[in-house]
Amino acid sequence: MVFFALLVGAELDGLTNLQPRGGCDDPSYPYYFKLRCESCGETSAKTTCVSLDEVVQLPTGKGTANLLQKCKLCSREGSVVVIPGQGTPLTAEQSQKGEMTCLMVFECRGYEPIEFAFGNGWKAESVHGTPFDIDLSEGEFDEYDEKGECPVALSKLQSTFKVVKKQGFHGKTRYV
Ligand SMILES: [Zn+2]
Repeated sequence: MVFFALLVGAELDGLTNLQPRGGCDDPSYPYYFKLRCESCGETSAKTTCVSLDEVVQLPTGKGTANLLQKCKLCSREGSVVVIPGQGTPLTAEQSQKGEMTCLMVFECRGYEPIEFAFGNGWKAESVHGTPFDIDLSEGEFDEYDEKGECPVALSKLQSTFKVVKKQGFHGKTRYV
């Protein structure tokens, strides 16, 4: 199995703390991405949806996963487990430095996650504290912050899956 961190970046203008609407560990937030089979290299044609509260029993009877999928080409079965507690919102500071933030970690067997798709169901706040619900399907967002009396905007979304290692650190588990 391999651990993948989902890293997300964007150009934030007057906005900060971009994250799924229920927070980074929102149990029902659907993460959309494609899967590439590690055995034959085939990429799934359809986008896969994985969320924390969708739990399936592994065929071995031992343990659970958040997704089980069979490769259409070689029929090998793989699984994805969502690992909460690792994500932090994308801040204005990170955006200014061109940095990305880790939103979630996925433990993958038999597959590599690729092509994360931003959908609806995000939120951020203006630097003056006004909350905004954001739909990222179009990849951009423009609004006016009445309280701060300034326009806010989001653009240049980017995302990547990075291989990370599980580490014990002062009694806590981290993925770096
Ligand atoms: Zn395959």
